Amino acid sequence: MRYILGAIAVAPGKPLFRWNETDGNREEAEKQWREQGGANLQSTLLGCGFELVLPDAYFAAWRRADRDGRAFSLVSAVAYLQSVLDVTSGDLWAAAAPYYDQRLREWRVGFGLKEDDRVLHGVVWPLLGVEDEGADIGAEIVLILKSANLGQVVALDERMPLEYCEDCGAPMFPNRDGEPTHADVPEPEGEGAPVHLH
Ligand SMILES: [Zn+2]
Repeated sequence: MRYILGAIAVAPGKPLFRWNETDGNREEAEKQWREQGGANLQSTLLGCGFELVLPDAYFAAWRRADRDGRAFSLVSAVAYLQSVLDVTSGDLWAAAAPYYDQRLREWRVGFGLKEDDRVLHGVVWPLLGVEDEGADIGAEIVLILKSANLGQVVALDERMPLEYCEDCGAPMFPNRDGEPTHADVPEPEGEGAPVHLH
């Protein structure tokens, strides 16, 4: 996440933001901010996917960015794989599973290609605030990935152990069969099999 800091001064009782005005609203302001602000920031974020959120009180903005960042990570992983592998999102699968030690700690999502069970990329979906086993996080993840038109999306029920690679410390991600798998970064330009980066 990146923050843009700004300072504004207004006369007492006057609106700070467009949505503080009687004919303004946050939704429209956010839309305009993304269009106009986005165009202005594009040159400073070359080659990056990004999503702007509205200014807010520090901790409120932080929490919102944390929450929105989770969905953004999934969508950007799909864009990354499409770009690196030169495939469509329909060629990709994703498998999401809950990871536990004594209790639910996070969800992890593994991504792969077509009939290949290797995990090519993984995203951790952290829990925020009061979320626990009761929250239907699997359904939320599935919805986001289906909206990204993935070929196959699987939400696994089994509790996965909170495992990391013993060599590099990377989190292990689920494949479609719920096996803990090392995500191996795909080689650009399709030069043979993905490599295990150790
Ligand atoms: Zn490793």
